[in-house]
Amino acid sequence: MAGEPQADCLFCKIVSGSIPATVVRETETTVAFRDINPQAPTHVLVIPKVHYPDAASLAAAEPQITADLLREAGEVAADDKVDSTGYRVVFNTGPGAGQTVFHAHAHVLGGRGLDWPPG
Ligand code: C5P
Repeated sequence: MAGEPQADCLFCKIVSGSIPATVVRETETTVAFRDINPQAPTHVLVIPKVHYPDAASLAAAEPQITADLLREAGEVAADDKVDSTGYRVVFNTGPGAGQTVFHAHAHVLGGRGLDWPPG
């Protein structure tokens, strides 16, 4: 069923606790943890506990959880004190854009200068 945990999904395993992660925030609907391969001093992933393959499918099915995710991205930035200097929230969508894990996730990047346009 839509949104149900997928046995072969790495981020569903982080949600269930069967794969460890450095969790920095958790709500009823979301988990935020430090990226294992950080690209900036702050690099946190915010994921919904429900399984959808990307941000667009999450937003179509679960608008409230999508709003929770974006609010949590802001809270992560505030916790890491990068909200005043600026930070970036990124949803890589599709292999051509660099998506490697097909469970919706927001990258929260900050703590250094961020070029535009991104590579
Ligand atoms: O946008 P993309 O799908 O490439 O992002 C997946 C992210 O998940 C990567 O930045 C990768 O470093 C991270 N990751 C992680 N912990 C894991 C596996 C992947 O933080 N156990």
